[in-house]
Amino acid sequence: MAEVAGCSQADADKQGLKHLSFFYATVCAVCDDPCLSEDGLSTLKACGGCHLIFYCGADHQKEHWKFHKEICLIVRATSKKLGANKIRGYRINDDLEERNDMFTENAFGFNTYRYYLYFNVQKKIRRALSTAESRMILYPRMCNICFSNDVKQLQVCAKCLCVSYCSKDHKEKDKERHSKDCSELRVCFEIDKSLLEAVGFGDIPFSDPVSCDFPGSPSCLEDIKNYSESLLQNLGTIEGRVLTDIMSAPMTIVQLLYSLDLASKSSLSIEIVGAGGFEMQYFEKWEQLLHWLPVVNTLSLTFVGPDVEGQLGCMNLCELCVSRKVDLKIVCSTEFYHDFINIHSRPDLIVAFNAGFTENIQCKIKDTWKNSIPEMIKRNCPILVTSYTHKESKSDLNRVQSLVKNANVLMDCQKNIFSASKPLQDWELHDDETIPQVYYRNYYLFVVKA
Ligand SMILES: [Zn+2]
Ligand SMILES: [Zn+2]
Ligand SMILES: [Zn+2]
Ligand SMILES: [Zn+2]
Ligand SMILES: [Zn+2]
Repeated sequence: MAEVAGCSQADADKQGLKHLSFFYATVCAVCDDPCLSEDGLSTLKACGGCHLIFYCGADHQKEHWKFHKEICLIVRATSKKLGANKIRGYRINDDLEERNDMFTENAFGFNTYRYYLYFNVQKKIRRALSTAESRMILYPRMCNICFSNDVKQLQVCAKCLCVSYCSKDHKEKDKERHSKDCSELRVCFEIDKSLLEAVGFGDIPFSDPVSCDFPGSPSCLEDIKNYSESLLQNLGTIEGRVLTDIMSAPMTIVQLLYSLDLASKSSLSIEIVGAGGFEMQYFEKWEQLLHWLPVVNTLSLTFVGPDVEGQLGCMNLCELCVSRKVDLKIVCSTEFYHDFINIHSRPDLIVAFNAGFTENIQCKIKDTWKNSIPEMIKRNCPILVTSYTHKESKSDLNRVQSLVKNANVLMDCQKNIFSASKPLQDWELHDDETIPQVYYRNYYLFVVKA
């Protein structure tokens, strides 16, 4: 009896986690059924309130209401205020209250609209949106070409369950791009559905500390490369994909420390700016830095940014690191970098992962990098910036150069050999159908210094 009760509790917990972390507009929010008829059309029913979430039938909608009610009411009110009736995908009410001309009916306007809705809903709800809630706003059900949301017409790609089309014509128009993206998008779906990232990974297969006799020994770099190759051998599994995403950050940093000749310092201070979920999740990955930096005996890591969640000053070290008597100091701050500035801090390296320096300007949302970037440059140390795409990397670099006259490029925009291999679906739409809809963290990087 006890065992049965234990099981159902675990199931209930998993169900609760699922409602927080899994959302695809192409499947029922409760049972994941895409409800496809033979012609590929879906018989899912949209929530009549927000039109953003779908159910196989009334039973599952009713069952889900306790999870959905709060966000549904706020999305409804907020989108109405933003003049949502003018936006494809958000035709909720024809009584126009307020019209924002930024939200034109093209890809850019629709991107801006969703970004706005996302920020305004989050402001109103006074808490961080769950992954599922964020996805509900950013990944609505629509034609991948014209963004039409006429659900009755939308045919879903049954292979990936990530895109839909309003017509055969539009499916044909997307054929070339989607044939490249489809299998990676399916990986996105499978990773999300596995709830691996919500439930946790278990023990991460870390590498043991390397030993070397002299600073900058090539054995360390070789060790990282071997480790990276062992990760790449498992790309066929969900765990393998996720692992490359987790380990991309420490591997990228170590590789750079070696190429900038900083790996032979005995004491190192690294500031990670604009940190958030990606940096704070699986926090023990940072201990791995010590394994690849055998000369370092004091490592200080500072995480700064409004999305930093409370991690406190210390971290458990593995036995080998304890026996080596290394000191790992962790500082976390939820301030913006320009507010955080600690005049005593002398970082050896500043890092901004997947920074998106221009994202907020494009969407006319308060741009805080404008104040932070000049302060970062003033620290007078190398600044590593990674980006999702080559294009974004170039615009991030331009942004730095337009804000700071004396920024020298130590490494121009280039592909990062330790980029993640876990695909992410781009929520932004492009009028240009040749732009891929899948991207990877830390894909490109550049390094600047005053
Ligand atoms: Zn269902
Ligand atoms: Zn709703
Ligand atoms: Zn269409
Ligand atoms: Zn597909
Ligand atoms: Zn260790």
